[in-house]
Amino acid sequence: MQSQRNNPGRGIRWNTLQEADSAATEAQKVTASVPIDVDQYWFGVLAMDFSVSEMKNFLLSAVEGEREGEYQLYDSRMRLIATSAGADDYPLRLTVREEAQLANDFGYDNRGGIRLVTSYISWEKLRNFDGVLLRIHRLHEGVRGDFGTITIALALVWMLFTAMLLFSWWVIRRMVANMAGLQESLQWRAWYDALTRLYNRGALFERALDAVQECKQKQLPISIIQIDLDHFKRINDEYGHQAGDRVLSHAASLISSKIRDTDIAGRVGGEEFCVVLPGASRETAMEIAERIRNRINMREILVGKGATMRISASLGVSSSDENGHYDFELLQSVADRRLYQAKQEGRNRVCASDTSTL
Ligand code: GH3
Ligand code: MG
Ligand code: MG
Repeated sequence: MQSQRNNPGRGIRWNTLQEADSAATEAQKVTASVPIDVDQYWFGVLAMDFSVSEMKNFLLSAVEGEREGEYQLYDSRMRLIATSAGADDYPLRLTVREEAQLANDFGYDNRGGIRLVTSYISWEKLRNFDGVLLRIHRLHEGVRGDFGTITIALALVWMLFTAMLLFSWWVIRRMVANMAGLQESLQWRAWYDALTRLYNRGALFERALDAVQECKQKQLPISIIQIDLDHFKRINDEYGHQAGDRVLSHAASLISSKIRDTDIAGRVGGEEFCVVLPGASRETAMEIAERIRNRINMREILVGKGATMRISASLGVSSSDENGHYDFELLQSVADRRLYQAKQEGRNRVCASDTSTL
């Protein structure tokens, strides 16, 4: 019951649910009361009971048009009085955690909002009513309303950023891989001839100088073989440049197959090759040169569509053990001179001295 002292606002005061002895919700009542006093004279209190279903209609008419979220009216002991949920819907039930959080917040303010994992609850204590009105947005239902629109927009932005991030990561990874590949290929090209896969002229020279130095220190012989394919121009002229290229790479692989891992083979000109044999005497170099010559000339090779031909090469050999000179350029020029001699003497042969042929 109201008293003048307890009701300074003189407004209508709503009382919470009367003790519900009956389990039926319809039987529960909410009391609205207003004090009546005139000129300090206290006449008493006018009270009126409302059934829970009337409260529900009252709530529904108050929130008409507001379709987002569910409105719920609670009494001071957090007992649900009315909900805006339709007859077919089950009212949303607060979890223990939500109730605890709300009870905590009620102590500090008259209105507020809490965001929980799956819901957003805004609340307001009503004037003159000993209870609270909640508006509950569940995440799954919020998808339909503004809250949902924002959630979807945020999720899309998040997905977009994630996709962009993944894409950038992929692009960077590819770039890094490409750069690593490019660097490797540049490094490779700095050392090797792309067509024959042998050392190029510069790399051969560099490696040969080191090898000569090492052999000189160890007092080991070192030998050089200069190789030039015979009448190579004809292959180009008759079967085309591509056929010429194929012959070049074929000859290079034959040369590689006849030398040791420690030997150094390079392409020093168009169809000219040089092989450096660290530790090999002149005799050994002559044998290896003869093996190379024989292998190149051994059988016919395919040069065009159905066209085969036998190729040959002329070879010049020089060695440090002839007169103890450890000078790569000198050794190479001697081998070159002997190669020219081999050409002069009829090609397809090895020349290892300035006078005799093998
Ligand atoms: P010789 O027996 O006197 O050595 O005759 P040759 O025809 O081999 O000698 P020449 O030096 O006159 O010709 C070499 C030819 O090699 C000329 C050039 O067109 C060809 N050549 C040079 N480099 C390449 C190449 O990378 N690919 C192809 N297909 N041909 C090349
Ligand atoms: Mg030639
Ligand atoms: Mg030549």
